[in-house]
Amino acid sequence: MYIFVPARHLWNISMAAPQRVRDLPEDVDTDDCMTSYTHIYSPDLLKDQVAFITGGGTGIGLRIAEVLMRHGCDTVIASRNLEKLTEAAKKLMAATGRRCLPLTIDVRQPQTISAAVDETLKELGRIDILINNAAGNFLCPAISLSFNAFKTVLEIDTMGTFNTSKVVYEKWFKDHGGAIVNISATLGYRGQALQVHAGSAKAANDAMTKHLAVEWGPSGVRVNTLAPGPISGTEGFHRLGGNIADSMGAFSSIPLQRAGNKTEMAHSVLFLASRASSYVTGHIMVADGGSWLTSANDVSMLLGIASSQSAKL
Ligand code: NAP
Repeated sequence: MYIFVPARHLWNISMAAPQRVRDLPEDVDTDDCMTSYTHIYSPDLLKDQVAFITGGGTGIGLRIAEVLMRHGCDTVIASRNLEKLTEAAKKLMAATGRRCLPLTIDVRQPQTISAAVDETLKELGRIDILINNAAGNFLCPAISLSFNAFKTVLEIDTMGTFNTSKVVYEKWFKDHGGAIVNISATLGYRGQALQVHAGSAKAANDAMTKHLAVEWGPSGVRVNTLAPGPISGTEGFHRLGGNIADSMGAFSSIPLQRAGNKTEMAHSVLFLASRASSYVTGHIMVADGGSWLTSANDVSMLLGIASSQSAKL
């Protein structure tokens, strides 16, 4: 999750009108499927493969499911809220013509993952791709963060990623190979204020990506990570006033001068999950428009913005 700081709060200088890149892929801001889609890769790239996507019923995870399905893949979308997942699965199947199985799991509880993976193999017969996307996050200064809140974020983001990877590896990947893509963040790169919990959890996942790439490579398993920047049409973006921030020029401090969209994240995942990246493993791919290189990390200013945002929630 990012905090958007208008550039004019940072520098008292006038900047040239932002030059925006206009060849963006289609996206919609809500948790709906796109009404049109232009393929960059072959529509058959993932033909008859199966992807297991944690947190695939909302936000970035939903768009990842849609884009993989638009490339011939069937999916499982797995998280805690079955009602939300069932609704998402209906939309995904209607938009893409592929199968989507909604399954309940809590990534903190290995037995729920185990049951879902068994069900996947029974219903869809294989797993080729695992996307570890489920996460919990919120803004909080370290001093106000309860021991339990810190632990919960690490349990969901880090242990959840390990639990799901281990179950899928044991039950399928160790004998058949596969591709794992973890969804990370750049928060830990410069110690983003108010994010010690998520930044620490994702940093551990980045290390895990390399450890598992080394250990599981000989079984034909590639393990890579995508680290998104601020992404429009997500819960975090809405909550932190991303749309208003955009109109206030907040993104002019990012080298590419805009937020990313969910389809752009899905395209990066598609690269890492498919044979397009067949010789890539142990890699952390940052897709943030250069944001982490230049974005503000001023504790007192960010604390002020966070408290004014939380007052509106
Ligand atoms: P989101 O819509 O809130 O997605 C989080 C998903 O995780 C939800 O579908 C939720 O579903 C699931 N989840 C949470 N706790 C779970 C648990 N214990 N077990 C299983 N599933 C659980 O958020 P998003 O913004 O799309 O984020 C997706 C990923 O991108 C995350 O890993 C996030 O850290 C990363 N990211 C996002 C941004 C951004 O700008 N949005 C930036 C950098 C990185 P249920 O409630 O049904 O369980």
